[in-house]
Amino acid sequence: MNKRVLKLNSNSASGKSVLYVMSRDQRVNDNHALLEAQNYAIDANLELHVMFNVLESTGVRSQEHYQFMVAGLQEVERQLDELGIPFILTVGSPVKNVTRVADELDTKAVFFDLNPLRGPRAVQKKIATQSEAECYVVDSHNIIPLWVLSDKEEFAAHTIRNKVHKNLDEWLFEPAKLSKQAETKQSTGSATWDQVQQIVDSAQPNGNSIPWKPGEAAAQAELKTFIESRLPNYAEERNVPTLDQQSNLSPYLHFGHISALRIALEVAQQIDEPILLLQRGKLASYEGEPTLANSVNAFLEELIVRKELADNFCFYNPSYDSIDGAKPWGRESVEAHEEDKREYTYTRDEWEQAQTHDEPWNAAQQEMMKTGKMHGYMRMYWAKKILEWSESPQEAIETAVYLNDKYSIDGGDPNGYTGIMWSIVGIHDRPWFEREVFGKIRYMNRGGLERRFDVNEYIRMWT
Ligand code: FAD
Repeated sequence: MNKRVLKLNSNSASGKSVLYVMSRDQRVNDNHALLEAQNYAIDANLELHVMFNVLESTGVRSQEHYQFMVAGLQEVERQLDELGIPFILTVGSPVKNVTRVADELDTKAVFFDLNPLRGPRAVQKKIATQSEAECYVVDSHNIIPLWVLSDKEEFAAHTIRNKVHKNLDEWLFEPAKLSKQAETKQSTGSATWDQVQQIVDSAQPNGNSIPWKPGEAAAQAELKTFIESRLPNYAEERNVPTLDQQSNLSPYLHFGHISALRIALEVAQQIDEPILLLQRGKLASYEGEPTLANSVNAFLEELIVRKELADNFCFYNPSYDSIDGAKPWGRESVEAHEEDKREYTYTRDEWEQAQTHDEPWNAAQQEMMKTGKMHGYMRMYWAKKILEWSESPQEAIETAVYLNDKYSIDGGDPNGYTGIMWSIVGIHDRPWFEREVFGKIRYMNRGGLERRFDVNEYIRMWT
């Protein structure tokens, strides 16, 4: 097994099949978990099956988000069908369903996607403990496997960046292609798309009108458009919320419709010897001239360093969505100011209805509610203002997590929890100057926004 794979139990099983339980990486191409499962199946002369378990709605994710996911999964089923690999759909309890399907198929080995969040990890742990099959987890979400990149919670971007530079060359390469599988008997017990639709219908709509089409093909198309039209100006304009200069790939990365590896390979190809650039440790030195090389490096910094840092934080810090996950300086700082008088405070409803006194904040909330995605620069302002106008930092974290997970199509993601913790308790940041409410947490205000872009235009765009 290569270093992308971790074994979750010590079983050494016999059986007639291999099962890949797709969850976070909902794609067929560039999917290392699927590739590893197929390699295992070929080596042991066994049948490979893929399953996906749709959870009952818990009220957190909206109907629009379920729809995005389901459309992507229907594309997965079609692609697997062309490869002769059966796709099993189940609904309900993941532990019960994976165990049942594995028993039914007499499974020797089960492969899971890596997800650093608590819920999915607990499910995998339970299955690995109960099951007689060998259970493996594969990191196909990060370019450098999470446990290879670092074996501990990293302190900041600069501490993980050196490790990225050291390891990237070993992992930034074209993955293998899947092989067609000889005719396999269909397994019983698969749910129908109608049953899945019932779950979708039972979820609460949130009013998002998501402008991105779901699925692998749409993700590839978005990447192509980004490279052709927006990447050249990315370094200079990505932080201007009135311009659409970001990649807009986060919805696809969140659902795994595209791999970060594929994006990095395509983007790095746009300049000469990009890998040499990375090896020289110039990944972060993108500020300055608006050249294509600077844009490529600025983008790779976000896609690799920032994104892999977020997975690192959530994997090694189980309190990634609470004040307990803060570093001592950040926690002490905001707690020392808990009694400071807040100029404004809002109820959850007022936040949700974008009814604060602050027009840029309301515009940002509206952007997220209308499109399912808030501009990255405004996300920082948005979360910091929730801290400023909440009774306590813990309440601020809870409000930000609730709104982000409910309205952002890329929500419920390590990037979201880490972004919120960066904004509110200074995770991966450093202490700044002491001030009311924030303590030493970095502050943002409208004046700062105005120095970067036309705030009134942004307000007009969304309210
Ligand atoms: P681009 O600028 O094109 O970046 C490309 C990719 O790089 C992104 O898709 C993402 O995978 C990664 N990336 C970019 N910025 C960051 C970052 N700061 N941290 C980690 N990875 C990054 N990102 C989410 O994916 N889901 C969220 O729910 C989310 N919530 C956030 C909440 C707050 C309060 C903050 C401050 C940040 C949040 N982010 C979140 C991180 C970042 O803002 C988004 O990843 C980015 O705006 C997504 O748009 P894009 O794909 O067009 O970005």
